This record gives sequence, C-alpha cells and structure tokens, in this order.
Amino acid sequence: MRILVVEDEPTLCTQLVQAISAAGHTVEGAGDGREAHYLGEVEDFDAVVLDLGLPVLDGLSVLRRWRAAGRNMPVLILTARSAWQEKVAGMDAGADDYLAKPFHMEELLARLRALLRRAGPHGSAEWQCGSIWLDTRQARVLVDGEPLALTGHEFKLLSLLMQRKGEVLSRTELSEHIYPQDGDRDSNTIEVFVGRLRKKLPEGSIETVRGLGYRLVDPGARA
Ligand code: CA
Repeated sequence: MRILVVEDEPTLCTQLVQAISAAGHTVEGAGDGREAHYLGEVEDFDAVVLDLGLPVLDGLSVLRRWRAAGRNMPVLILTARSAWQEKVAGMDAGADDYLAKPFHMEELLARLRALLRRAGPHGSAEWQCGSIWLDTRQARVLVDGEPLALTGHEFKLLSLLMQRKGEVLSRTELSEHIYPQDGDRDSNTIEVFVGRLRKKLPEGSIETVRGLGYRLVDPGARA
C-alpha cells in the first residue's frame, strides 16, 4: 500500500516513515501542510497519517481541502494529548481516526491496518460529465474512453469543475483551490489554465459566464 506521512518534527517523521516502511508499505513523507495538500490531491495514497500542527498550512485545513475536492482516502490524524477539541474538529473535517501524541508506534501501525482494512479496495471518487470521466483516486481522466494527459494544475481545476458541474465557479474560488497559500494566488493565471484545459476537452465543455466565472457543462446535452 502507498502511505503519505505528514509530520513536521524530523525525528518523529523519520520514525514514522521507517516503521510504516518496515510494515511493508511504500511511504512518502511531507513536512509542511502545503506540500502535503499538493501530494494528497494529485497523487494516489491508500491512507494518510496527518499531524495537525504543521507549518505553512495546518493539518485541519489540508484535510478539509482534500475532502472538498473529493479526495476520500482514509486519514489518521495525530493530535496533542490534551486537546480534545482538536479531535472533534478533526473528525468533523473528515478524519477517519485519531491518535494522541505521544503514542506507541505499535498502536499507530494497528490503527493504520484497521483503516486500510475498512477502506478496502474502494474509496474512490469518480465524476462524469458527458463524455468526460474523472477518477480522483487514480488521478485519471478519460474522454470518450481515451486517457487525457493533464498537468497537476489542470487536473485540480477539472476536478473542482467536475465535482460542481453546472455551477458557476469564480476565478477566486478556482485559484483558491489551485493555490492553497494566499501569497501564490493570482486569478489571472486561472484564465490561462482554463484556456489550456478548454483546448483539451470536448468543445463547449467549459462555459465562460461573463463577470462571474466558469461553468462545466455537457455540450451534448444542450442539443
Ligand atoms: Ca507538528
């Protein structure tokens, strides 16, 4: 199985990566929330171990954004021992389980096994709009059954449009989805991404709603 470990304390991160690797999994590590968010959104993981106190973007925000984008891999959050509010907020944000620090590595591995068992082979989110089909778990897009090559940004953009097809999404909303960190946001670049994505999709799939934003439609359904 492929596991993402998100932990900013280097020693603990190394221990987690080693223990989970030794249990037979392929492990990817991330040390801040932004990197974690990106990896969890564009790559396919069977489960995530997510610390909540993270630099750049906190763990709760990372989790909320994944869930809002339809990423529903099992997530085990790591919380501070005393902060019961964190556990509640974490479960509300879509965590599947939690473990308070400090914990025994054996307990973490047992909970991870339980999560992977419960998730089984499913847990993917798939959306369809006309001839376009998108699978978030495999990060795959098909148009008329043919694979479509998209960049990470184009994939994120299409995921959100597919998830909320028929709805008008503003440039701000789209750029917030693509750039989780405020400093990077530039709504003008969204036009560029939308333009590129539009060229790859069946004609008429992305409508521009003047002054408001963009909307994904099934061009075949309009006839
Ligand atoms: Ca931390």
